[in-house]
Amino acid sequence: MLAAELRLHDVRVLVVEKQTEPASAVRIVGLHIRSLELMAMRGLLERILPHGRKRPAGAYFAAIAKPAPPGLDSRYAYLLGIPQPVIERLLEEHAIEQGAQVRRGCVVAGFEQDDEGVTVELADGERLRSRYLVGCDGARSTVRKLLGVGFPGEPARTESLMGEMEVGVPPEEVAVTVAAIRETHQRFWLRPAGVGVYSVLVPAAGVSDRAEPPTLEDFKQQLHAVVGTDFGVHSPRWLSRFGDATRLADSYRVGRVLLAGDAAHIHPPIGGQGLNLGVQDAFNLGWKLAAQIHGWAPETLLDTYQTERRPVAEAVLDNTRAQTELLSTEPGAQAVRRLLTELMDFDEVNLHLLEKITAIGIRYDFGAGPDLLGRRLRDIDVKQGHLYDLLHRGRGLLLDRTERLTVDGRSDRVDHLADSTAALDAPSVLLRPDGHVAWIGDDQQGLDDHLSRWFGKPAH
Ligand SMILES: Cc1cc2nc3c(=O)[nH]c(=O)nc-3n(C[C@H](O)[C@H](O)[C@H](O)COP(=O)(O)OP(=O)(O)OC[C@H]3O[C@@H](n4cnc5c(N)ncnc54)[C@H](O)[C@@H]3O)c2cc1C
Repeated sequence: MLAAELRLHDVRVLVVEKQTEPASAVRIVGLHIRSLELMAMRGLLERILPHGRKRPAGAYFAAIAKPAPPGLDSRYAYLLGIPQPVIERLLEEHAIEQGAQVRRGCVVAGFEQDDEGVTVELADGERLRSRYLVGCDGARSTVRKLLGVGFPGEPARTESLMGEMEVGVPPEEVAVTVAAIRETHQRFWLRPAGVGVYSVLVPAAGVSDRAEPPTLEDFKQQLHAVVGTDFGVHSPRWLSRFGDATRLADSYRVGRVLLAGDAAHIHPPIGGQGLNLGVQDAFNLGWKLAAQIHGWAPETLLDTYQTERRPVAEAVLDNTRAQTELLSTEPGAQAVRRLLTELMDFDEVNLHLLEKITAIGIRYDFGAGPDLLGRRLRDIDVKQGHLYDLLHRGRGLLLDRTERLTVDGRSDRVDHLADSTAALDAPSVLLRPDGHVAWIGDDQQGLDDHLSRWFGKPAH
């Protein structure tokens, strides 16, 4: 995502990836509303939709089965279930089409930075030189470790086994046993995942430090321990394990080196937020890093990546901590879960939790102003059609209902749409390339100040 965003601004990008082949574990991830909106903003949604399954929004928080209340404020108010390898492939193809170079089988082993750039050393001794380096290298990030950036938080308390396999008993027998166990065990499922194949989730025996995948024997043992039978599981397609460690990088940037995605934050997968959070980090960072590289970035712009995104990750870590407690089989936790389930009958409570998980409730702190300031603008109707269709090039946009404002001097970075009919409850708004509202008003002076704040000095 970051590579494609940088390419939109003509920045030369090299992605180095240690795996020679794309990952094969067919973990289904859910793209939540804000990620779907980002894809729509770049014209990618049409490409992604045929590969996923639309599901109704709702029932995300601790998997409490409440449908979404009315009033979800988005044109894309659903969840798109899509295998992670597929979304990774689509984003990789998109980045390559945009001109990014991807080199597989390259392991980053070290780097040094100076005033002009970063020299990266690969495991085979090859050296690469770039102006910036972004570590999008996952939870065990080499880049983060080499930077010496702390990754404080809580180690894993529990681990789960997850995989796909066949079962040796009839589907009716599976359904009855599973339903009974699911009444109290939230960290267990065994459900159809294609013809003759079941997706299995079961708590692991304990927390291990092993990076290698579990065995079918581990699954059998744990199914026996939790359910009392192993359903005769056999012929695994893939097996994996994950823990509930929760950690946040102390810093997202040290000089010319930045962190994004799981390299910057990890948390339990409950609510399906990790990939979404990382994609949204990239969307926040791309245009800022491009501006820095092209030399028009205001002095503090690149640092707003951390000031905006780290609190968002902090909030996600917190909601996953809360959700994890609600999955416990302890009587106290189950009582809190019942209470929250009751509270979610209040639409406002339900909506609040939904906006957290789907990331449409985010408001960056841009200073005092109307509630919309710092929030994302939904995909409203404008005279040409949908607003998000006008953001494909990743530029700023002045949506000018007064039809008398101007972006003169910055028209190389900011588009201007004069449209008194736009379905907007504000005189005019300035949108950043990530679709967040950077200014609301109707006066040229106020606009100019905010153009300077976000898009730097005029070109002439
Ligand atoms: C069971 C489970 C279910 C999940 N469900 C969801 C969900 O529904 N929704 C959701 O949003 N998220 C979900 N997640 C989280 C999601 O999978 C991760 O947050 C996401 O993969 C993080 O992406 P990333 O690119 O930051 O890191 P990664 O996916 O870890 O990618 C990092 C890449 O860097 C490469 N790399 C590492 N070190 C080096 C090096 N030194 N040199 C070169 N390359 C290197 C790795 O090979 C890897 O390809 C789930 C996670 C789990 C475990």
